[in-house]
Amino acid sequence: MSRRKKKFSCGHKGYGQICHRCTQEQVVWDTKKQEKYEWETAFTYDPIDLRPFPRNVVLKAREILTGLQNHRNYRDFHGKRLRHDRFIISIPVTRHYRLLCRYHNSVLIPEAVISHEDYNVCKPGG
Ligand SMILES: [Zn+2]
Repeated sequence: MSRRKKKFSCGHKGYGQICHRCTQEQVVWDTKKQEKYEWETAFTYDPIDLRPFPRNVVLKAREILTGLQNHRNYRDFHGKRLRHDRFIISIPVTRHYRLLCRYHNSVLIPEAVISHEDYNVCKPGG
């Protein structure tokens, strides 16, 4: 076997039967594709739609949702009952987003993540 570099059909130069640069790129590409796939699939397990939100909001919201599913109290996440509707709980996700949950027969059901602007709009007289 010759140890001379040869030129592969892709244009790269190297040793052996296959281009290691392209193989490496393919691995990186596959990993990225896999991560993207896993990221997108994870949304189907969320009790509410988190797709429209930034990554950090999604991750933080999931943390809270998982906590609530495990019967943690909303107060653990600095949640508060709304003054004008005691059945709605507002939990801060980040500075700009909050998670709204509603009591149905004393079970806390997550309803939506909303931005701070939307939140202020839905407050009566706000
Ligand atoms: Zn190559």
